[in-house]
Amino acid sequence: MGGDNCIFCKIIEGKIPSRKVYEDEEMLAFHDINPAAPIHFLVIPKKHLPMLCDASSEDTQLLGKIMLKIPELAIQEGANPGQTGGFKILMNNGAEGGQEVYHMHLHVLAGKRLGNQQL
Ligand code: IMP
Repeated sequence: MGGDNCIFCKIIEGKIPSRKVYEDEEMLAFHDINPAAPIHFLVIPKKHLPMLCDASSEDTQLLGKIMLKIPELAIQEGANPGQTGGFKILMNNGAEGGQEVYHMHLHVLAGKRLGNQQL
């Protein structure tokens, strides 16, 4: 299941420590080591999908569950609720998309007014 030498698979396996936000059988959320906002965590599928482009129709439910979990986790971590509050979700996909770690992940940023963020 895990990718060889994948840092995020090592985090899932507990071989590299992380500050966990949430975990279940299918996904893990943990704080980004280099936060770009007052609240910045990553949500990853436990299944080693290097990029969104590697997901297929068999991952539809998994990706849907991750998306639906994010608002709950953002509020849990301190994002202000409602239209005056909010949070940003970012996903880098591939080198030209700014991806550095090849285990698919969504960035969740909050805690200040965010512009056209790039990570
Ligand atoms: P990417 O550019 O979308 O691939 O972003 C990878 C993110 O992973 C960056 O924001 C890094 O700060 C973050 N990151 C890398 N290694 C670790 C780690 O060991 N723990 C938590 N976050 C990490």
